[in-house]
This record gives sequence, structure tokens and C-alpha cells, in this order.
Amino acid sequence: MNANVDTDEISRFEALAAQWWDAHGDMAPLHVINPVRLRYIEQRSGSLRSKTVLDVGCGGGILTEALAQAGAIALGIDLAKASIDVAIEHARDQAIRVDYRCISTEELAAETPARFDLVCCMEMLEHVPDPAQTIAACAQLTKPGGHVILSTINRNPKSYALMIVAAEYALRLVPRGTHEYAKFIRPSELLRWARSAGLESADVMGLRYNPLLKSASLNSQDLDVNYFMHCRKPT
Ligand code: SAH
Repeated sequence: MNANVDTDEISRFEALAAQWWDAHGDMAPLHVINPVRLRYIEQRSGSLRSKTVLDVGCGGGILTEALAQAGAIALGIDLAKASIDVAIEHARDQAIRVDYRCISTEELAAETPARFDLVCCMEMLEHVPDPAQTIAACAQLTKPGGHVILSTINRNPKSYALMIVAAEYALRLVPRGTHEYAKFIRPSELLRWARSAGLESADVMGLRYNPLLKSASLNSQDLDVNYFMHCRKPT
């Protein structure tokens, strides 16, 4: 299989693995946005209780644990083994029931197609060589009638200024090299890839993050930087 993975990206995340659960460290923005994105997921897909949920590119499990705590039967996957180890240990320490595997999205899709009520893929598509292929695998993993929720970063001068210049250089919120501008994804591109994967787009929602106030909120009018897309797999 043509591996849809950038090994430099994986090495960078492996080097940061010890930081996943430091809410004030390099992963701070993910901790701040987590309750807001969980709320969006629940708004769009209904109660998570007893639903089978996959978290693609789960990292240390910040969202995966929250999904499990909201009642989901959650599985997190990531190709960074060090992150998966951190995720497993953290869930064990917190006594949260959640499964983790170090496996690619495409391999899991071949292994267990149509297995999940909901597939989430957050802040990961802008790190893979072929995001369309990842979205196709997400669609394959979803049950007919199920939900796919994606999030990524838009590509325009404002997102360049905020996510690269401000976040990596001026404010040093995240390590330099975390994001590559050319890999940011416009909503129109995400929509095209979702449709090619056989998904129907149900909603797009902007996410505003304020690093100074350490706050985040949903904003349907502002897709300029971070945004979500909710899709349904037809029955
Ligand atoms: N989804 C998590 C982590 C986002 S960081 C969250 O939002 O909290 C991006 C994650 O994508 C990292 O954990 C990285 O290891 C993972 N990743 C990057 N390329 C990947 C690939 N090809 N397959 C699986 N995971 C990948």
C-alpha cells in the first residue's frame, strides 16, 4: 500500500509525546479548544452514549478520552508510537476505558470497514501527504448513516499570519515547524474531497481561538483560520 504518511511529521510529534498532557505546554491550544470541539461533536452527532467512535490521528488522546468520558466506545489511532504509549498510560492512570492502536487509517479501513457510528479526524489532515485519501478511509470506516467530523486550518493570508507568524514566531505558542502553510486546506478543497469520498456535507463551523485569553468559541461566520466540517455517510 502507498503509505500516506510524512515520517518527518511523525518524528516531530514523537519528540513532543511527553508534552501531550501538559495543559500549559506546547499542546496548550488543543487543551483549550477541547471542550468546545466536544460540544460541537455532540451537537452534530447527538449523544455519544454507547456509540462506536474513532479518533483518527489521536495523539496523546486529549479528544479520545473526552469522547470516552461522554459515553462513547472510543478507539484512538495514530502512527506516532510514542504518542500512543502516552495515551494508553494516561487513560490507565485516569481509569478511563478507551482503546488505542498504532495503525494507519487506511489499514484500519481495510480491516474493519463500516465499523463506527462516528469518525473524528481533528487537526491531522494538514499533516498528511494525501488528505483526500485519509478522508476516503474515514468514510470507509463509517457506518452508513454515520457521521464524520473533520477539523483543519484554512489557507489564506490571515491563517498564515496567525498560525505561522504569530503562533510559531511572535508568541511562540507552538514549536516552530509545527505547521506548513502549503498544507493548510480551504473549505472548498475539504468539501471536494469529502464528496469524492461519498460523504454529504452537513455543516461547516469556524473555531475562534484566543491565545491571550486562553479561550475558544464556535463561530459560524468565521472560517478564516480553524474550522470544522460535519459530514454524513448516506444510508
Ligand atoms: N487529533 C489530536 C492530535 C492533533 S496533532 C488532537 O486534535 O488533539 C496531529 C496528530 O496527527 C499527531 O498526533 C500526529 O502523530 C498524527 N499524524 C500525522 N500524520 C499521521 C498519519 N499519516 N497517520 C496517523 N496519524 C498521523
